[in-house]
Formats: sequence, C-alpha cells, structure tokens
Amino acid sequence: MKKLSILGSTGSIGKNTLEVVSRHPDKFKVVALAARNNIEDLELQVKEFKPDVVAVFDEEAAENLKNRDLPVDILFGEQGLIEAGIIDSADMVVSAIAGSPGLGPTYAAIQAGKDIALATKEALVMAGDIVMAAAAANGVSIIPVDSEHSAVFQCLDGRDRKEIEKIILTASGGSFLNRSLSELDKVTPEEALKHPNWDMGRKITIDSATLMNKGLEVIEAYWLFNVPLEKIDVVIHPQSIIHSMVSYVDGSVIAQMSMPDMKGPISYALSYPGRLGDILPALNLSEIRELTFEKPDVDKYPAITLTYRALESGGTMPCVLNAANEAAVDAFLDGDIAFTDIWRVVADTMSEHKTIHVDTIEDIIGVSNRARKKAEDIINIKKEQNKQ
Ligand code: MG
Repeated sequence: MKKLSILGSTGSIGKNTLEVVSRHPDKFKVVALAARNNIEDLELQVKEFKPDVVAVFDEEAAENLKNRDLPVDILFGEQGLIEAGIIDSADMVVSAIAGSPGLGPTYAAIQAGKDIALATKEALVMAGDIVMAAAAANGVSIIPVDSEHSAVFQCLDGRDRKEIEKIILTASGGSFLNRSLSELDKVTPEEALKHPNWDMGRKITIDSATLMNKGLEVIEAYWLFNVPLEKIDVVIHPQSIIHSMVSYVDGSVIAQMSMPDMKGPISYALSYPGRLGDILPALNLSEIRELTFEKPDVDKYPAITLTYRALESGGTMPCVLNAANEAAVDAFLDGDIAFTDIWRVVADTMSEHKTIHVDTIEDIIGVSNRARKKAEDIINIKKEQNKQ
C-alpha cells in the first residue's frame, strides 16, 4: 500500500489523482491533502479519502474548515503546506500546486526524502539545479506527471543517455493553432481558455495557447533528463495522441501514445515501474486515422525562443521568465493586456534582469517575487498605453 500526500488536491491534477486512487483503493492510501482555499471540494475529499492531515494555504479558509467538525488535523499557511508534504507516513508526494507557490513545499518534501510525482513544472523551471541536486543528495526519485515528460520517461525506460539523439516534445498548438499572427492581438480570455484536446486549469490552458507551456516544458526536460539543450526539440502535433518521443542514435524513434487524459501519466507516476488497469480507454488508431506534425512557427509564437534564451543565459533567468509569465497571464485573464502582450511582458522583464547564480530556494523565491513586481510595473505601463 503506497501512502500519498497530495499537494494541490482541488486542482485538475489533484482531482485526477484522487480518481486514480479511488479506482485502486487496495494500492493507495491518502494520508495528507493540501489546497489553496477551495474548502468545499476539500471537505468532500476529506470525507471520501479520510486523510490524517489537511492543509489550506488561506488562513481564513482554514478557520472555516475547522468549524465543520471533520475528523482530520487542519494546518494552514505556507508552513501548513510544507508539513503536509513532509508528513512521516507519506511514501510519495504528488506535487500539483499550481505555479511558483509549489516550489517551497516540493523542495521541503525532497529534503525529507519523499519520492515526488511532479506536476508542478515550475519547481524545475525556477530552480532546476538546486532541486535536482537535492533529489540526488536525498536519494529521491522525481517521476514526471507532465504528459510529455511522462512519455519521454516511458520511452527512455532506463536506457543509456549516450544513445539519445533527440528528445522530441509534442505540442498540441493550443487554442489558436490556425489563427494568423494579426488575429492574435484581438483574442479574448474566453477564446484562449477553450483548449481543443486537454481539460486543464486556466493558467496552463493560456500557457498552452501562447506555447509558453511548451517553453517551460523544454526547461523541465532539460533538468529531468540531463541532456544538452540542443538535443531537445518541439514539434506541433494537433491530435495530442503521441505525448512525446525519443530519437536514438541508430535512427529509431520510440513514441508513447494514449488518449489525451491526465489520468494516464498520473497513474504511471503512482505505480511506476508497474502499470494499473482501468485508467484510460483503449486507443483506437483506425478511428483516429490521422496523426500529423508540423514545425512550430517561432515568429508567431516567440515563447519557445524566449525559453531557450532563458536557459542559455542560465542562473536566475528561467525563474524570471516564469515569474513574468505568471504576472502576464493573470493580467491577460483580468482583461488588462492583450494576448500578444504576454510575450512582450516576459521579454521586457527578462531584458531588465541581469542573470545571477543563487544557491538557496529562499534566494530563488526572492528573485521570483522581485521579477513578478517588475513585470507588474511593465504591465501597468501597457495598461495605461492601451487606455489611450
Ligand atoms: Mg505538458
């Protein structure tokens, strides 16, 4: 019986994780749950999965939950999330807190020696060197939940890194694959939130439409699989059936396919190296008929170029890119800036940052917070310009 702590249990990944657990109650036990402030869903989850501990980021929400007389210890704040992640009884922590707030609790869980099922890619984007070094030092396995990285992990299957020619990440192309660059200035948050294949949270759906998600995934792959940047490629594959591929030195390419549903990569991370039944419907290729591929249009989508540039610059630059993108996506969802301003805010914030190298997670969180403020200043200027 594997005991799980699920950080981010009321988000899309968290709910899918609990769905996998509920289909295999003989294999998994939930010992801790953590969420930001969605206590309605959390209450239902506590009643169904009976964890020992729940943590709520928002103190007021935690107080509200305490008044509901649930048979569970209730923690709150950043420290509460950390305690849920380092709880003695957990064998594995599912790291699924959305965005940069996930870094601290994930890092604490690694230091406590917990194996990690990693959905919060920001932990590696912001602090890949520090996080991977801590995992190695503590004998921790980081198993990817991101569908592309799960695919690569499955295609690699322990093979020698020297045999890898390329890691090829697939991208659906998001909501606006067939729109021209000039049309993108005018798209609304509602349009951007309609993803053709995947049902995901709001932030990642926008990142998918800008292709920034793929850029962040390049950085994630760089740290997870320890290959040079020039060995990581991106290809647009609108059907989202091949989740990524590895090309080997002998010209063979191994691809991983399934229906696009996050329960696939989640169940693999939970059960690795085994596989669970009753997760996804069988793949019917004769019904799908067509799998197509194209090169990403880097003029239309500068996000991938920006992320390669951030990784080449190294140090704190990927963290700054991520913080600026989080601020810009929030501003776009609030209607303050245009869709195409997202890239401009990221590029402008990066050009005002001088790369440094830091050694601690506290320092990297400081860099992230300052970069977010800088991005918000840039956003405010754009907002004023848009009004005129
Ligand atoms: Mg992904």
